[in-house]
Amino acid sequence: MIPAPSAAAADGLQNLTFREVEAALEAAGLRPFHARAVWRAMYRDLAGSWDEVADLPGAVRRWLDARPLCFPEVAAEVASGDGWTRKFLLRLADGREVETVLMEFAGRHTACLSTQAGCAMGCVFCATGQGGFFRHLAPGEIVAQVRQARRAMRAAGGTGPRNLVLMGMGEPLHNYDAVMTALDIITDTRAFNIGPAHVSISTVGVVPGIVRLAEERRPYNLAVSLHGADDTERSALVPVNRRWPLPELIGACRHYGRLTGRRIFFEWTLVAGRNDTPETARRLASLLRGLDAHINLIPLNPTGGFGGAATAPAAVQAFKEALQGAGFPCTVRQRRGIDVAAGCGQLQAENRRREAAPA
Ligand code: SAH
Ligand code: SF4
Repeated sequence: MIPAPSAAAADGLQNLTFREVEAALEAAGLRPFHARAVWRAMYRDLAGSWDEVADLPGAVRRWLDARPLCFPEVAAEVASGDGWTRKFLLRLADGREVETVLMEFAGRHTACLSTQAGCAMGCVFCATGQGGFFRHLAPGEIVAQVRQARRAMRAAGGTGPRNLVLMGMGEPLHNYDAVMTALDIITDTRAFNIGPAHVSISTVGVVPGIVRLAEERRPYNLAVSLHGADDTERSALVPVNRRWPLPELIGACRHYGRLTGRRIFFEWTLVAGRNDTPETARRLASLLRGLDAHINLIPLNPTGGFGGAATAPAAVQAFKEALQGAGFPCTVRQRRGIDVAAGCGQLQAENRRREAAPA
């Protein structure tokens, strides 16, 4: 059975959409319009406790006092030398830790959110996958990461973040309901008002989740992590490929494209000698033929539990040109904040090592 979020994390107003807060107020015999003040405090004023909220009728205050604000504390914070990346390790109510990364590019800020404590998918090169799976995050634990990013930006005199990517720890489509509730909250104009077009969900290829996203017409961008152009190559890096092999996965992507009319982003971590030849690029191009696709290439960020190396820049360029030659737009993603271990799950893995090491 999948462990559920702890009681403290799963209860509480931070997990509720605006309508649900209204309904909870109403069920307590209170006026639903107080939901506006409650949300303003949580998501606009970024209040740390209800004491900071003025002008509430006594009955509403008593109701809120019985539901204390429950947001994770910052267990560690690191900034990269180039100042473009800040990384927060958040400690949840049950002591589990997840990472949130804030990146700046051309004056725009993107927050990278975690959706699970750990991950069950076991991709061999990924620090989170190497650490195993602990539990799903509750919606409020995902929302709290945006709150933390906004607090940090506000403290620095800025606004934002403007963009969100669900590319931190965990597999978003393995925690579908909590992720969708969190995004309903985050994109609400009364909360953080981040446009759905500025939100990207990255999945390892959970086929039923991709189909559901399409059929529910969710207005977010979809990124699919491929890393292999045939089942043998992909299963060696992404074991969950055995559950949803490439023909099924690409079929789901075509279904998604047809239903939504949206472009799909494909992520490709380049590992030297494993999936990085121009010949592989051409096989990838024929796999994706006919899809409206954009391919993001990410040279491997080395992790302790995997012996592979990053593809050298000249080979990255050759791979990119082979894809572009086949008609696919393609971007090489910068490995931001390598010095703060901004790869997925790496700060958490480092912290565990530090804590395990004798003083
Ligand atoms: N579980 C989701 C989202 C989190 S991982 C997914 O797999 O898509 C986000 C992206 O980071 C994925 O494309 C993943 O393959 C990539 N990634 C993870 N570890 C990496 C590493 N060590 N080097 C380069 N890319 C990595
Ligand atoms: Fe999980 Fe994504 Fe890491 Fe794979 S790459 S183990 S799916 S977080």
